[in-house]
Amino acid sequence: MNIRETNYWLETVPDRALGAREGLPDLVDVAVVGAGFCGLAAARVLAKRGIRAAVFEAEELGWGASCRNGGMVLTGLKLPVPTLIARYGREATKRMYAASLESIDLVEQMVKEEGIACSFSRCGHLEVACKAAHFAAYSEAAALIKREFNHELRVITKNELRTEIGSDLYFGGMVDERSASLNPAQYVTGLAKAAQRAGASLYDHTRVTGVEPEVHKGGRKFRVFTSRGSLLARDVLLATGAYTSSATPAFRKKVIPIGSYIIATEVLSGGLARALSPRNRMIYDSKHFLYYYRLTPDNRMLFGGRAAFVPESENTVRESAELLRRGMVEVYPQLRQVRVDFVWGGTLDFTFDVMPHSGKIDGLHFAVGFAGHGVAAATWMGAKLAGVICGDVDDNPFSSIPFPGAPIGLRSGSTWALPLAGWYYRVLDYFT
Ligand SMILES: Cc1cc2nc3c(=O)[nH]c(=O)nc-3n(C[C@H](O)[C@H](O)[C@H](O)COP(=O)(O)OP(=O)(O)OC[C@H]3O[C@@H](n4cnc5c(N)ncnc54)[C@H](O)[C@@H]3O)c2cc1C
Repeated sequence: MNIRETNYWLETVPDRALGAREGLPDLVDVAVVGAGFCGLAAARVLAKRGIRAAVFEAEELGWGASCRNGGMVLTGLKLPVPTLIARYGREATKRMYAASLESIDLVEQMVKEEGIACSFSRCGHLEVACKAAHFAAYSEAAALIKREFNHELRVITKNELRTEIGSDLYFGGMVDERSASLNPAQYVTGLAKAAQRAGASLYDHTRVTGVEPEVHKGGRKFRVFTSRGSLLARDVLLATGAYTSSATPAFRKKVIPIGSYIIATEVLSGGLARALSPRNRMIYDSKHFLYYYRLTPDNRMLFGGRAAFVPESENTVRESAELLRRGMVEVYPQLRQVRVDFVWGGTLDFTFDVMPHSGKIDGLHFAVGFAGHGVAAATWMGAKLAGVICGDVDDNPFSSIPFPGAPIGLRSGSTWALPLAGWYYRVLDYFT
C-alpha cells in the first residue's frame, strides 16, 4: 500500500497559522491551556463577554484530537442509559442526556452564527449490531429513551438494513436522526477564528510548562509558565484533553489517553458511495473495540477504530493502516480493490468512569472525558465552563458527579497498562 501517513482533514484547511505574533501580556483574566474544541469554545464565550482570555497551544491551533476525529456529532453519552440511571439516578441522567442533545444544537448554532464552512449536516447516525443479542437490546433501549427523555430512536431490522447501509454483516441497527456530521479540522479552525474575532489572544507553539498560585496585589492569582515566558492569570482553564502532560500532574492522573486510528480511501464514484451509505449516516458498530465510519463530503470512505490502544506513534499509525483496511473490507467487500490514500491516529480523552467531567482541581478549572463524543460535548463543556468563570450558576450535570482517579494509583502518566485494557475489551467483545 502506498498510503500517506497524514490526516486527510488537514488537506482541506490550507491556512491554520492564526496564532498571535506579539509577546505575552503581563496579566490576563483567564489563561486557557489547549486549543481544541473545548479551549476555543471557552475562549470565544469569554471574549464575547468582555473577559481578557489568552489561549496557549503547544502545537498548531486545533492540533490535538479536535482536528483528527471522525467528525461525528453524536447524541447520547459513551455509557448506555441503564448504566447511567443505575449510577446517577433518573433525574441526573435526564439532565445529562438533555445536555448531549443541546450540545449538538450549540454546534449548529455556532457554525451558523460564525459562518464556519465545515459541511455541518444533520444526517443522523446509525448504530449497527454485531451480534443477535446486541440487536435484541435495541428495542428496549429505544423504548427507555423515548419514555425517559421523549427522544425518538428507530430500530431497523436486518431485512430493512440495506436501506441504511450497503453491508450484510450486521444483525440490525438503530437510527438517531438528531446526530450530525462535520469536517472537524474546518470546524476547529473556524472556532479559532471566531474566538480571535471576539477578542481572545491565541498563542500557538506555546507550551504551558507549569502553573503555580501566586499572591498579586493582595489577591490570589496563578502564574502560568510557558515556553514564551510567564504571565499572571486570575483563572486558568485546563482544556488539554488526552494530551494532558506533567505540566499539570494532578489533572494528568485523572485522564486515560487511548489511541484511535483512521484511514480514508481514494474518492469513490457517487454510485458506489450511495451504495455503501444510502443516507450518508455516521455509522458505528456495537462492539467495545468498535469500528466507526462515514463518507467524507468528497465521497471518500473514512474508516476508524482502536486498531491499537496506545496513543499514536509512527509505528502504530503504520500498523493500523492494514488492520483497518481489513476491517473495512470485512464490512464492505465492495471496497477490496479500492485504494487507501490516508492513515492517521489521535488520542481520545477517557476517564476512569468513562464519563465527562468538569470542575476545579488545585484551583484550576478543567473539562475532560469526552471520549468518542467530544465534537459536541467538548464544545458545550467549554462554553459552559466559560459561563461559570463569568459568574453564571453552575447547572452542568457533569460538574457535580464524583471524579475518580486511577485505582490503586495505577496511572502516573505512563501508558503501560493500555495494551492490557485493549486485550480486556477484545475478550469482552468475544463473550458479550
Ligand atoms: C481518532 C479519533 C476519532 C474521534 N472521533 C470522534 C467522533 O467522530 N466524534 C466525536 O464526538 N468525538 C470523536 N473523537 C473525540 C474528540 O475528538 C475529542 O473528545 C475532542 O476533540 C476533545 O477536544 P479537547 O478540546 O478537549 O482536546 P484536544 O482537541 O485534544 O485539544 C487539547 C490540546 O491541548 C494541547 N496541549 C496539551 N498540553 C498542553 C500544554 N501543556 N500547553 C499547551 N497546550 C497543550 C494539545 O496540543 C492539544 O491540541 C475522536 C478522537 C480521536 C482521536
